[in-house]
Amino acid sequence: MNDTIPLSPPAPAPATPRLPDLRDQSRDDLAARFAEWGEPAYRLDQLLRWLHVHRAASWDEMTNLPRSLRQRLAAVYSLGSLILARLQGAGDTTRKFLWRLHDGSFVESVLIPANPALYGERADRHTLCISTQVGCAYGCRFCASGLDGWKRNLEPWEISGQVLAVERWNASQPRSTEAGTAEAPDRLVNNIVVMGMGEPLANYDALLAALRTLNAPWGAAIGARKITVSTSGIVPRIRQLADEPEQFRLAISLHGATDAVRGRIMPINRKYPLDQLAAACEHYAARKGKMITLEYILIAGVNDDSAQTAPLARLAHRLHAKVNLIPYNKVEGLEWERPGDDRCRAFAEALEAAGCTATLRLEKGHDIDAACGQLRLKTERELAAQP
Ligand code: SAH
Ligand code: SF4
Repeated sequence: MNDTIPLSPPAPAPATPRLPDLRDQSRDDLAARFAEWGEPAYRLDQLLRWLHVHRAASWDEMTNLPRSLRQRLAAVYSLGSLILARLQGAGDTTRKFLWRLHDGSFVESVLIPANPALYGERADRHTLCISTQVGCAYGCRFCASGLDGWKRNLEPWEISGQVLAVERWNASQPRSTEAGTAEAPDRLVNNIVVMGMGEPLANYDALLAALRTLNAPWGAAIGARKITVSTSGIVPRIRQLADEPEQFRLAISLHGATDAVRGRIMPINRKYPLDQLAAACEHYAARKGKMITLEYILIAGVNDDSAQTAPLARLAHRLHAKVNLIPYNKVEGLEWERPGDDRCRAFAEALEAAGCTATLRLEKGHDIDAACGQLRLKTERELAAQP
Protein backbone atom coordinates (compact mmCIF):
# COMPACT_ATOMS: atom_id res chain seq x y z
CA MET A 1 0.00 0.00 0.00
CA ASN A 2 1.45 3.39 -1.02
CA ASP A 3 1.52 6.60 0.92
CA THR A 4 -0.50 9.29 -0.80
CA ILE A 5 0.64 11.99 1.61
CA PRO A 6 4.28 12.04 2.68
CA LEU A 7 5.31 12.52 6.27
CA SER A 8 5.11 16.20 7.19
CA PRO A 9 7.56 17.87 9.63
CA PRO A 10 6.87 17.53 13.37
CA ALA A 11 4.71 20.14 15.08
CA PRO A 12 6.42 22.27 17.75
CA ALA A 13 5.48 21.36 21.31
CA PRO A 14 2.96 23.83 22.78
CA ALA A 15 4.56 26.47 25.01
CA THR A 16 1.65 26.81 27.44
CA PRO A 17 -0.68 24.20 28.93
CA ARG A 18 -3.86 23.78 26.90
CA LEU A 19 -7.21 25.07 28.06
CA PRO A 20 -10.04 22.52 28.29
CA ASP A 21 -11.15 21.65 24.78
CA LEU A 22 -14.43 23.11 23.58
CA ARG A 23 -15.42 19.80 21.98
CA ASP A 24 -15.20 18.10 25.38
CA GLN A 25 -18.02 20.24 26.73
CA SER A 26 -21.43 18.62 26.73
CA ARG A 27 -24.49 20.52 25.57
CA ASP A 28 -25.50 21.00 29.22
CA ASP A 29 -22.05 22.38 30.18
CA LEU A 30 -22.20 24.91 27.37
CA ALA A 31 -25.84 25.80 28.04
CA ALA A 32 -24.87 26.70 31.62
CA ARG A 33 -21.94 28.80 30.38
CA PHE A 34 -24.09 30.62 27.80
CA ALA A 35 -26.79 31.30 30.42
CA GLU A 36 -24.12 32.78 32.69
CA TRP A 37 -22.94 35.01 29.82
CA GLY A 38 -26.51 36.03 28.94
CA GLU A 39 -26.25 34.53 25.44
CA PRO A 40 -29.54 33.51 23.76
CA ALA A 41 -30.19 29.77 23.45
CA TYR A 42 -30.06 29.75 19.63
CA ARG A 43 -26.38 30.74 19.81
CA LEU A 44 -25.66 27.42 21.48
CA ASP A 45 -27.25 25.52 18.61
CA GLN A 46 -25.24 27.56 16.15
CA LEU A 47 -22.04 26.76 18.02
CA LEU A 48 -22.79 23.03 18.25
CA ARG A 49 -23.47 22.92 14.52
CA TRP A 50 -20.11 24.52 13.82
CA LEU A 51 -18.37 22.01 16.04
CA HIS A 52 -20.07 18.75 15.17
CA VAL A 53 -21.86 19.24 11.83
CA HIS A 54 -19.55 21.61 9.95
CA ARG A 55 -16.51 20.22 11.82
CA ALA A 56 -14.98 23.69 12.16
CA ALA A 57 -11.24 23.58 12.85
CA SER A 58 -10.84 27.31 13.64
CA TRP A 59 -12.76 30.13 15.32
CA ASP A 60 -12.67 32.12 12.07
CA GLU A 61 -14.90 29.59 10.34
CA MET A 62 -17.79 30.26 12.74
CA THR A 63 -18.97 33.22 10.71
CA ASN A 64 -22.48 33.61 12.15
CA LEU A 65 -21.23 33.88 15.75
CA PRO A 66 -20.37 37.43 16.88
CA ARG A 67 -16.62 38.00 17.08
CA SER A 68 -16.98 39.03 20.75
CA LEU A 69 -18.51 35.62 21.58
CA ARG A 70 -15.76 33.78 19.71
CA GLN A 71 -13.13 35.78 21.63
CA ARG A 72 -14.86 35.00 24.90
CA LEU A 73 -14.94 31.31 24.07
CA ALA A 74 -11.29 31.33 22.97
CA ALA A 75 -10.30 32.80 26.34
CA VAL A 76 -11.60 29.74 28.21
CA TYR A 77 -11.49 26.86 25.69
CA SER A 78 -9.02 25.40 23.23
CA LEU A 79 -10.31 24.35 19.84
CA GLY A 80 -8.17 21.36 18.97
CA SER A 81 -8.07 19.46 15.73
CA LEU A 82 -6.12 16.49 14.47
CA ILE A 83 -3.46 17.14 11.85
CA LEU A 84 -3.17 14.63 9.02
CA ALA A 85 0.46 13.50 9.01
CA ARG A 86 0.21 10.55 6.65
CA LEU A 87 -2.40 8.79 4.56
CA GLN A 88 -2.21 5.32 3.07
CA GLY A 89 -4.55 3.73 0.56
CA ALA A 90 -6.27 4.85 -2.59
CA GLY A 91 -9.53 4.64 -4.54
CA ASP A 92 -12.26 2.66 -2.87
CA THR A 93 -9.99 0.57 -0.70
CA THR A 94 -9.40 0.79 3.00
CA ARG A 95 -7.58 3.99 3.97
CA LYS A 96 -5.34 4.46 6.94
CA PHE A 97 -4.93 7.93 8.49
CA LEU A 98 -2.07 8.88 10.78
CA TRP A 99 -2.90 11.91 12.96
CA ARG A 100 -0.43 14.14 14.71
CA LEU A 101 -1.67 15.34 18.10
CA HIS A 102 -0.83 18.65 19.78
CA ASP A 103 2.00 17.08 21.78
CA GLY A 104 3.59 15.51 18.70
CA SER A 105 2.21 11.99 19.40
CA PHE A 106 0.68 9.94 16.59
CA VAL A 107 -2.49 7.85 16.41
CA GLU A 108 -4.22 6.03 13.58
CA SER A 109 -7.74 5.66 12.23
CA VAL A 110 -8.80 3.29 9.46
CA LEU A 111 -11.67 4.06 7.06
CA ILE A 112 -13.33 0.96 5.66
CA PRO A 113 -15.70 1.57 2.73
CA ALA A 114 -19.15 0.05 2.38
CA ASN A 115 -19.09 -3.72 2.47
CA PRO A 116 -21.41 -6.23 4.10
CA ALA A 117 -20.98 -4.84 7.59
CA LEU A 118 -19.43 -7.13 10.10
CA TYR A 119 -20.44 -5.10 13.08
CA GLY A 120 -23.62 -3.31 12.01
CA GLU A 121 -27.01 -4.72 11.19
CA ARG A 122 -26.82 -4.13 7.44
CA ALA A 123 -24.39 -2.94 4.79
CA ASP A 124 -23.17 0.49 5.82
CA ARG A 125 -21.67 3.38 3.97
CA HIS A 126 -18.40 3.67 5.86
CA THR A 127 -16.97 2.20 9.00
CA LEU A 128 -14.26 4.07 10.88
CA CYS A 129 -11.89 2.24 13.19
CA ILE A 130 -10.70 4.66 15.89
CA SER A 131 -7.90 4.70 18.48
CA THR A 132 -8.22 5.45 22.18
CA GLN A 133 -4.62 5.57 23.44
CA VAL A 134 -1.15 6.42 22.15
CA GLY A 135 0.43 2.96 22.29
CA CYS A 136 -0.93 0.27 24.58
CA ALA A 137 0.12 -1.15 27.94
CA TYR A 138 -1.37 -4.61 27.46
CA GLY A 139 1.49 -6.07 25.44
CA CYS A 140 -0.31 -8.75 23.43
CA ARG A 141 2.57 -10.56 21.81
CA PHE A 142 1.33 -10.29 18.22
CA CYS A 143 0.28 -6.62 18.20
CA ALA A 144 2.14 -3.57 16.85
CA SER A 145 0.22 -1.11 19.05
CA GLY A 146 1.80 -2.41 22.23
CA LEU A 147 5.33 -2.90 20.89
CA ASP A 148 6.74 0.33 22.31
CA GLY A 149 4.44 0.37 25.34
CA TRP A 150 1.87 2.93 26.43
CA LYS A 151 2.48 6.67 26.05
CA ARG A 152 -0.76 8.37 27.06
CA ASN A 153 -4.54 8.23 27.03
CA LEU A 154 -6.40 10.18 24.39
CA GLU A 155 -8.72 12.90 25.57
CA PRO A 156 -12.38 12.54 24.60
CA TRP A 157 -12.18 15.11 21.78
CA GLU A 158 -9.12 13.31 20.36
CA ILE A 159 -11.19 10.11 20.17
CA SER A 160 -14.39 11.59 18.72
CA GLY A 161 -12.30 14.06 16.68
CA GLN A 162 -11.02 11.21 14.50
CA VAL A 163 -14.51 10.96 12.98
CA LEU A 164 -14.70 14.71 12.41
CA ALA A 165 -11.19 14.84 10.95
CA VAL A 166 -11.89 12.02 8.47
CA GLU A 167 -15.13 13.67 7.40
CA ARG A 168 -13.39 17.01 7.06
CA TRP A 169 -10.70 15.40 4.94
CA ASN A 170 -13.39 13.73 2.79
CA ALA A 171 -15.28 16.99 2.27
CA SER A 172 -12.04 18.63 1.07
CA GLN A 173 -11.45 16.01 -1.64
CA PRO A 174 -12.07 17.13 -5.22
CA ARG A 175 -14.35 14.12 -5.76
CA SER A 176 -15.90 14.10 -2.33
CA THR A 177 -18.36 11.27 -1.71
CA GLU A 178 -20.28 13.70 0.44
CA ALA A 179 -23.76 14.20 -0.99
CA GLY A 180 -25.12 16.87 1.36
CA THR A 181 -25.35 20.64 0.98
CA ALA A 182 -23.10 23.34 2.43
CA GLU A 183 -25.81 24.02 5.01
CA ALA A 184 -26.24 20.37 6.00
CA PRO A 185 -23.23 18.31 4.97
CA ASP A 186 -23.95 14.61 4.83
CA ARG A 187 -22.07 12.28 7.13
CA LEU A 188 -19.48 9.93 5.71
CA VAL A 189 -19.06 7.70 8.75
CA ASN A 190 -22.08 5.89 10.11
CA ASN A 191 -20.49 2.90 11.78
CA ILE A 192 -17.70 2.99 14.35
CA VAL A 193 -15.45 0.26 15.63
CA VAL A 194 -13.22 1.11 18.57
CA MET A 195 -10.49 -1.27 17.43
CA GLY A 196 -7.62 1.05 16.67
CA MET A 197 -4.60 1.62 18.82
CA GLY A 198 -4.95 1.17 22.56
CA GLU A 199 -7.23 -0.62 24.98
CA PRO A 200 -10.50 1.36 25.04
CA LEU A 201 -11.67 0.08 28.42
CA ALA A 202 -8.37 1.20 30.01
CA ASN A 203 -9.34 4.78 29.08
CA TYR A 204 -12.91 4.28 30.18
CA ASP A 205 -14.12 7.76 31.14
CA ALA A 206 -12.70 9.42 28.03
CA LEU A 207 -14.07 6.62 25.86
CA LEU A 208 -17.57 7.02 27.26
CA ALA A 209 -17.48 10.82 26.95
CA ALA A 210 -16.33 10.52 23.32
CA LEU A 211 -18.91 7.88 22.43
CA ARG A 212 -21.65 9.99 24.00
CA THR A 213 -20.67 12.97 21.84
CA LEU A 214 -20.65 10.74 18.74
CA ASN A 215 -24.02 9.33 19.77
CA ALA A 216 -25.71 12.61 20.78
CA PRO A 217 -28.32 14.18 18.46
CA TRP A 218 -26.37 17.46 18.75
CA GLY A 219 -23.10 15.59 18.02
CA ALA A 220 -22.44 13.11 15.22
CA ALA A 221 -25.81 11.37 15.83
CA ILE A 222 -24.38 7.88 15.26
CA GLY A 223 -26.63 5.26 16.84
CA ALA A 224 -25.19 3.30 19.78
CA ARG A 225 -25.97 0.06 17.92
CA LYS A 226 -23.60 1.28 15.21
CA ILE A 227 -20.73 1.60 17.68
CA THR A 228 -18.68 -1.48 18.62
CA VAL A 229 -16.14 -1.44 21.43
CA SER A 230 -13.40 -4.06 21.23
CA THR A 231 -11.52 -5.15 24.33
CA SER A 232 -8.78 -7.57 25.21
CA GLY A 233 -10.92 -8.47 28.25
CA ILE A 234 -10.79 -6.07 31.21
CA VAL A 235 -13.47 -7.91 33.16
CA PRO A 236 -14.61 -5.22 35.66
CA ARG A 237 -14.89 -2.66 32.86
CA ILE A 238 -16.96 -5.01 30.70
CA ARG A 239 -19.38 -5.27 33.61
CA GLN A 240 -19.37 -1.50 34.04
CA LEU A 241 -20.08 -0.97 30.33
CA ALA A 242 -22.92 -3.47 30.57
CA ASP A 243 -24.53 -1.26 33.20
CA GLU A 244 -24.37 1.95 31.12
CA PRO A 245 -27.65 3.00 29.53
CA GLU A 246 -26.37 2.95 25.92
CA GLN A 247 -26.67 -0.10 23.70
CA PHE A 248 -23.07 -0.23 22.47
CA ARG A 249 -21.94 -3.46 20.86
CA LEU A 250 -19.10 -5.47 22.33
CA ALA A 251 -16.31 -7.40 20.62
CA ILE A 252 -13.82 -9.50 22.57
CA SER A 253 -10.28 -10.08 21.33
CA LEU A 254 -10.21 -13.75 22.21
CA HIS A 255 -7.47 -15.28 20.04
CA GLY A 256 -7.32 -18.42 22.16
CA ALA A 257 -10.09 -20.69 23.43
CA THR A 258 -8.11 -22.25 26.27
CA ASP A 259 -6.18 -20.47 29.03
CA ALA A 260 -2.96 -22.17 27.90
CA VAL A 261 -3.14 -20.83 24.35
CA ARG A 262 -4.61 -17.42 25.22
CA GLY A 263 -2.20 -16.92 28.11
CA ARG A 264 0.75 -17.49 25.81
CA ILE A 265 -0.13 -14.54 23.54
CA MET A 266 -2.22 -12.26 25.78
CA PRO A 267 -0.76 -11.37 29.21
CA ILE A 268 -4.16 -10.04 30.36
CA ASN A 269 -5.41 -13.62 30.44
CA ARG A 270 -3.34 -14.21 33.58
CA LYS A 271 -5.26 -11.50 35.41
CA TYR A 272 -8.67 -12.30 33.92
CA PRO A 273 -8.75 -15.93 32.77
CA LEU A 274 -11.37 -17.24 30.36
CA ASP A 275 -13.89 -18.26 33.01
CA GLN A 276 -14.07 -14.74 34.43
CA LEU A 277 -14.13 -13.23 30.95
CA ALA A 278 -16.96 -15.51 29.85
CA ALA A 279 -19.01 -14.64 32.96
CA ALA A 280 -18.59 -10.89 32.29
CA CYS A 281 -19.64 -11.42 28.65
CA GLU A 282 -22.72 -13.33 29.78
CA HIS A 283 -23.60 -10.39 32.01
CA TYR A 284 -23.15 -8.02 29.07
CA ALA A 285 -25.28 -10.11 26.75
CA ALA A 286 -27.99 -10.45 29.39
CA ARG A 287 -28.09 -6.70 30.08
CA LYS A 288 -27.99 -5.62 26.44
CA GLY A 289 -29.75 -8.48 24.66
CA LYS A 290 -27.04 -8.09 22.02
CA MET A 291 -24.90 -10.60 20.23
CA ILE A 292 -21.24 -10.36 21.19
CA THR A 293 -18.50 -10.84 18.59
CA LEU A 294 -15.48 -12.98 19.42
CA GLU A 295 -12.47 -11.81 17.43
CA TYR A 296 -10.07 -14.61 16.69
CA ILE A 297 -6.83 -13.90 14.82
CA LEU A 298 -5.46 -17.04 13.21
CA ILE A 299 -1.72 -17.28 13.88
CA ALA A 300 0.20 -20.17 12.29
CA GLY A 301 1.19 -22.86 14.76
CA VAL A 302 -0.13 -20.89 17.75
CA ASN A 303 -3.94 -21.00 17.78
CA ASP A 304 -4.93 -22.42 14.38
CA ASP A 305 -4.96 -26.15 15.16
CA SER A 306 -8.13 -28.19 15.40
CA ALA A 307 -7.72 -28.58 19.19
CA GLN A 308 -8.97 -24.98 19.54
CA THR A 309 -12.16 -25.36 17.51
CA ALA A 310 -14.19 -27.42 19.99
CA PRO A 311 -13.56 -25.13 23.02
CA LEU A 312 -14.09 -22.07 20.81
CA ALA A 313 -17.42 -23.39 19.54
CA ARG A 314 -18.46 -24.22 23.13
CA LEU A 315 -17.63 -20.72 24.31
CA ALA A 316 -19.46 -19.13 21.37
CA HIS A 317 -22.53 -21.26 22.18
CA ARG A 318 -22.42 -20.33 25.82
CA LEU A 319 -22.27 -16.62 24.98
CA HIS A 320 -24.57 -16.78 21.92
CA ALA A 321 -21.68 -15.08 20.17
CA LYS A 322 -20.52 -15.07 16.58
CA VAL A 323 -16.87 -15.62 15.74
CA ASN A 324 -14.93 -13.32 13.45
CA LEU A 325 -11.84 -15.10 12.12
CA ILE A 326 -9.02 -12.81 10.95
CA PRO A 327 -5.89 -14.26 9.36
CA TYR A 328 -2.93 -12.68 11.16
CA ASN A 329 -1.46 -9.60 9.55
CA LYS A 330 2.32 -9.81 9.69
CA VAL A 331 4.02 -7.21 11.90
CA GLU A 332 7.57 -6.22 11.06
CA GLY A 333 9.96 -7.43 13.71
CA LEU A 334 7.61 -10.05 15.17
CA GLU A 335 7.98 -13.77 14.62
CA TRP A 336 4.28 -14.63 14.07
CA GLU A 337 2.97 -15.75 10.68
CA ARG A 338 -0.40 -15.93 8.93
CA PRO A 339 -1.55 -19.53 8.24
CA GLY A 340 -2.20 -20.63 4.66
CA ASP A 341 -5.68 -20.02 3.23
CA ASP A 342 -6.52 -23.76 3.37
CA ARG A 343 -5.76 -23.88 7.10
CA CYS A 344 -7.94 -20.81 7.70
CA ARG A 345 -10.81 -22.34 5.70
CA ALA A 346 -10.51 -25.67 7.52
CA PHE A 347 -10.67 -23.85 10.89
CA ALA A 348 -13.80 -21.93 9.82
CA GLU A 349 -15.45 -25.10 8.49
CA ALA A 350 -14.76 -26.98 11.73
CA LEU A 351 -16.47 -24.17 13.65
CA GLU A 352 -19.46 -24.17 11.30
CA ALA A 353 -19.68 -27.96 11.63
CA ALA A 354 -19.86 -27.47 15.40
CA GLY A 355 -22.90 -25.23 14.85
CA CYS A 356 -21.09 -21.95 15.39
CA THR A 357 -21.60 -18.77 13.30
CA ALA A 358 -18.19 -17.82 11.97
CA THR A 359 -16.99 -15.34 9.34
CA LEU A 360 -13.62 -15.49 7.64
CA ARG A 361 -12.30 -12.88 5.22
CA LEU A 362 -9.38 -14.06 3.15
CA GLU A 363 -9.43 -11.43 0.42
CA LYS A 364 -6.54 -9.00 0.30
CA GLY A 365 -7.11 -5.26 0.50
CA HIS A 366 -8.66 -5.53 3.93
CA ASP A 367 -5.34 -6.49 5.39
CA ILE A 368 -4.93 -3.31 7.38
CA ASP A 369 -8.42 -3.29 8.93
CA ALA A 370 -7.51 -4.95 12.16
CA ALA A 371 -3.91 -4.06 12.56
CA CYS A 372 -3.67 -0.52 13.78
CA GLY A 373 -0.41 0.58 15.27
CA GLN A 374 1.91 -0.31 12.42
CA LEU A 375 1.89 3.03 10.62
CA ARG A 376 2.50 4.90 13.83
CA LEU A 377 5.35 2.58 14.79
CA LYS A 378 6.96 2.95 11.38
CA THR A 379 6.63 6.75 11.57
CA GLU A 380 8.00 6.98 15.11
CA ARG A 381 11.00 4.91 14.01
CA GLU A 382 11.59 6.98 10.88
CA LEU A 383 11.51 10.17 12.94
CA ALA A 384 13.87 8.69 15.52
CA ALA A 385 16.30 7.78 12.74
CA GLN A 386 16.35 11.35 11.35
CA PRO A 387 19.46 13.40 12.18
N1 SAH B 1 -7.20 -3.21 22.55
C1 SAH B 1 -8.42 -3.61 21.96
C2 SAH B 1 -8.76 -2.88 20.68
C3 SAH B 1 -7.63 -2.62 19.74
S1 SAH B 1 -6.91 -4.03 18.95
C4 SAH B 1 -8.44 -5.09 21.74
O1 SAH B 1 -7.42 -5.72 21.91
O2 SAH B 1 -9.51 -5.59 21.43
C5 SAH B 1 -8.11 -4.38 17.70
C6 SAH B 1 -8.03 -5.78 17.14
O3 SAH B 1 -6.90 -5.93 16.26
C7 SAH B 1 -7.87 -6.83 18.21
O4 SAH B 1 -8.75 -7.91 18.00
C8 SAH B 1 -6.44 -7.23 18.03
O5 SAH B 1 -6.20 -8.44 18.61
C9 SAH B 1 -6.30 -7.16 16.52
N2 SAH B 1 -4.92 -7.20 16.03
C10 SAH B 1 -3.83 -6.69 16.61
N3 SAH B 1 -2.73 -6.92 15.86
C11 SAH B 1 -3.15 -7.63 14.78
C12 SAH B 1 -2.50 -8.18 13.64
N4 SAH B 1 -1.19 -8.04 13.48
N5 SAH B 1 -3.25 -8.86 12.72
C13 SAH B 1 -4.58 -8.95 12.88
N6 SAH B 1 -5.25 -8.45 13.93
C14 SAH B 1 -4.55 -7.79 14.87
FE1 SF4 C 1 -3.37 -3.50 23.23
FE2 SF4 C 1 -5.44 -4.58 21.90
FE3 SF4 C 1 -2.94 -4.62 20.87
FE4 SF4 C 1 -3.52 -6.14 22.97
S1 SF4 C 1 -4.42 -6.32 20.92
S2 SF4 C 1 -1.65 -4.87 22.74
S3 SF4 C 1 -4.92 -4.83 24.11
S4 SF4 C 1 -4.18 -2.81 21.26
